[in-house]
Amino acid sequence: MNEKEKLPVIIGAGLSGMAISDNLSQAGIPHILLGAPPTNVPRLGESIDPAGTLALLRFYPEFDEYYFKKRWITVFLGKYATSCNFAQTLSRQVGLKMIGFDSPAEFIHVDRIGFDHDLYKKIVADNCCLHKNVLVESLDYDAGTDTFTALHLADGETLEPSFVFDCTNHIRLLGRTIDLPIEYISEPQRVVYTHFHAPEGTPEEELFGEEWEHATNILRLYQDWDAVDGLAWAIPLGSYISVGVSIPLEEGVELDKDEVMDWVAAAYARRGLDFTAVFSQRREVMMLPFQQYFYYDRAYGRNWLLAGPSYGQVWFPSASGVGAALVSGYLAPQFLQDPASAGQAYQEYADGFKESHRIFDWMIKQDHEMMTQELVKVESNKIVAENVKRVARLATIQNGKMSASLASLLIKAVSRDGVATSGCEVFQAELPEQTHTIFEQM
Ligand SMILES: Cc1cc2nc3c(=O)[nH]c(=O)nc-3n(C[C@H](O)[C@H](O)[C@H](O)COP(=O)(O)OP(=O)(O)OC[C@H]3O[C@@H](n4cnc5c(N)ncnc54)[C@H](O)[C@@H]3O)c2cc1C
Repeated sequence: MNEKEKLPVIIGAGLSGMAISDNLSQAGIPHILLGAPPTNVPRLGESIDPAGTLALLRFYPEFDEYYFKKRWITVFLGKYATSCNFAQTLSRQVGLKMIGFDSPAEFIHVDRIGFDHDLYKKIVADNCCLHKNVLVESLDYDAGTDTFTALHLADGETLEPSFVFDCTNHIRLLGRTIDLPIEYISEPQRVVYTHFHAPEGTPEEELFGEEWEHATNILRLYQDWDAVDGLAWAIPLGSYISVGVSIPLEEGVELDKDEVMDWVAAAYARRGLDFTAVFSQRREVMMLPFQQYFYYDRAYGRNWLLAGPSYGQVWFPSASGVGAALVSGYLAPQFLQDPASAGQAYQEYADGFKESHRIFDWMIKQDHEMMTQELVKVESNKIVAENVKRVARLATIQNGKMSASLASLLIKAVSRDGVATSGCEVFQAELPEQTHTIFEQM
């Protein structure tokens, strides 16, 4: 490719890469997208935070067949069970309107297999997108100008990019290439996950009849009760449920991923949430052998952006990864015009997740004996406050000057006073009663 043909290049065709490609196409900007298309393998990133929900519903309403109600976040934490109600109240609707958002009826879970496939079809159909299913093997970087000058592909081709978007997630291709300073903010983990499907023909009332079937159900497993220390999720998605667990990585300790999944299912059943009674057909269990939360020193340079979670990642219950991917997509056309200000906007948005990480990290590291009802309530309220701030930050990026001013005021108010009504309740109950207890008054 000669000098005149330099184009923006996106590395990685996951959600972040596709969101960037889509936004560049909408702006009529020709670009190259590199990497493998989506597969049918379960994906991480199915429970969406309020900011991500607003972005998905605003930009991708046409994929609503893949969206499922997220009415609750429940957290099983030792003797306590918390439920935060995500249903829309009048005050939430008015608050969202003031900062420029149409209030959705519900927040959402996303069937990522269906969604990613359809989004892929949409983006590659656009003439602005040239997609190549090829890996980038290495890059040339000029430290003097802080620019990436060439990409060397596995098929032997070399591309000279105008801009580079790193959408390689935990692979962190650009950050590793230039040895960008990095801060690790968690111990290394391994992640085991899969989908459990309901048998063909299961009636709708069994798939959607229970409140936990509209909740992101987070569970802290304890070695003495559940065979392993870890943090698990169970996210219902219509005809299947996504289940996984993050376990601290211990050198030299082998884990059988199928056995781990048995422990996770048993741990939920022990708290009265036996999802296998409806979703009995387990698919292949996947394992990420190494995973660690981190932040880089900076998210952007003169002609590059660490998009989505390749800049920073936080504890998964913050459910911020999909929102981050969409925000980097939204900012991509601006980034080509003004890398410093669009890059800084993205960096500040993603830096906003750090406080959620700290709260979850604190909760997760406590032994069950350390928990009190008051502590769980205080920390749950903080998590809701962080979500309010995240939505306000999204408004400052997407909704014009007036909304941005109101959103800035909201961020200040919530930082000072927390949230008046978080919608979170904390219950103390014997383990087998916990699921029943948190939903019985609803
Ligand atoms: C345990 C866990 C649970 C999570 N749960 C949630 C959640 O509930 N909600 C949420 O919002 N987020 C969640 N996330 C985050 C979420 O998974 C991601 O943020 C989101 O899917 C972003 O996708 P991505 O496109 O950036 O990365 P990916 O989907 O991983 O895509 C990266 C792509 O880059 C490609 N690639 C890598 N190297 C190269 C190369 N050299 N050349 C070309 N291509 C390359 C890969 O093949 C891949 O296709 C979770 C993360 C973890 C670890």
